[in-house]
Amino acid sequence: MRIEDLIRPNIRALKPYRSARHDFTSGILLDANENSFGSVLQLDGLELNRYPDPFQVPLRAKLAHLHGVGVENAFVGVGSDEVIDLLLRIFCEPTRDSIVIVEPTYGMYRVAADINNIRVRTSLLTDDFQIDIASVRDESRNNTKIIFCCSPNNPTGNVLRHEDILSICRHTPAIVVVDEAYHDFAGSESLIRSVASTPNLVVLRTLSKAWGLAGIRLGYCVASPVIISYLMKVKAPYNINVLTSHEALKALEDVDRVRRTASAVVQERERLAQALKEIPYVTKVFPSEANFVLIRCTRATLVYRRLAEQGIIVRDRTSEPKLQDCLRITVGTPTQDEQLIEAMRGLRV
Ligand SMILES: *Cc1c(COP(=O)(O)O)cnc(C)c1O
Repeated sequence: MRIEDLIRPNIRALKPYRSARHDFTSGILLDANENSFGSVLQLDGLELNRYPDPFQVPLRAKLAHLHGVGVENAFVGVGSDEVIDLLLRIFCEPTRDSIVIVEPTYGMYRVAADINNIRVRTSLLTDDFQIDIASVRDESRNNTKIIFCCSPNNPTGNVLRHEDILSICRHTPAIVVVDEAYHDFAGSESLIRSVASTPNLVVLRTLSKAWGLAGIRLGYCVASPVIISYLMKVKAPYNINVLTSHEALKALEDVDRVRRTASAVVQERERLAQALKEIPYVTKVFPSEANFVLIRCTRATLVYRRLAEQGIIVRDRTSEPKLQDCLRITVGTPTQDEQLIEAMRGLRV
C-alpha cells in the first residue's frame, strides 16, 4: 500500500497557498499588510502584530523530541479536532469514500465525517470493549480510507489491545488513526513507538486533558512524513496562533509537572471508583485508564437529572450502543468527588 494512493487526487495535485511568512520572517517586513506600528496589546513581549510562523518548527520539534521522533513526524492543530477534520479532507472524497469507527466512542469522528459528507460505517466493540477485528475488516471496503480507534477509549475508559490495532494496520489498506487523548492516564505504552514501522498509522494527542490546556486549543499527531507533509499542505497557513504556541512551548518546558498531575488524577480516579462501587444502585464501575469513570446504574437518566438539579453535571451515555444505563463521570478534585458521592448517596432511585 502506498499512502499517496489513498490521498484524494485534488489534494495530491494541490498547490498550497504561499503566505508572506513562507518566504521571509525577518527584515523590514512590508509584505503581509500587518500593522507596522505595533499591536494594541502588549503581552509577554510577543509580536502580536505579526502573523504566526506557518511551519511551527520549534513547537513541533519539542513535541517530536518528547516522543523520540523527528520533526517531520509531528503536526500541530487547533485541538485534535482540527487534525481529525484535516485527515478526513485529505483522504476521503465526499459522497464516495467512507470511514470506519469503533463504537461506542468519541462523537467527533462521526460529526466531522457528517460535515464533510463522508459515509460512516460502524463496528461495535466486543462486550469487554475491545476491537472486533473481523467486524472492522468486514466494514472496511475499497472506499474505506480511515479507521478511527480511540485508546484509552472515550467513554469506556479502557485501552484497546495494541496487537489488534497493529493487525488492522497491516491488513487493511487504509489509514488507521489512534486517538490517544487520554494516554497520560494509562499504564500502557503509546502506539507512537510503532509509527516508524507502520506508515499508515496516525497517533493523535492533545494538550487538552493531562496538560490541563483545553483552553489554548492545541492537539497534535505523530505519523509518517508523507502524511505530515499533506497535513502541512492542507492546513490553514496560520492555524496555530502566537499565544497558543507561546504558552504550549512554556508548558513543554516542564514535562514532569504533567506526569505529576496525571498521577494525582489517577490516584483520585481509583478513590472515586472505589467510592462509586459502594453506592447501592451502581451496578458496575468499569475499570478506567483515563481521567473519567464509566458506571452502570439503575435508572441512570434519572440519576443524571437528579445530580444536575444539585448542580453536579455528569455525562449521560445511556443512548450509546452497549452503554444502556451508563453514565460517564470525569474525575474531579477530592472535594468535588466528595460532593458527588455525597449527592449520589442521598438519591433514592
Ligand atoms: C477530549 C478528547 C479530545 C480532545 O480534543 P481537542 O480538540 O484536542 O481538545 C480528543 N479525542 C478524544 C477521544 C477526546 O475525548
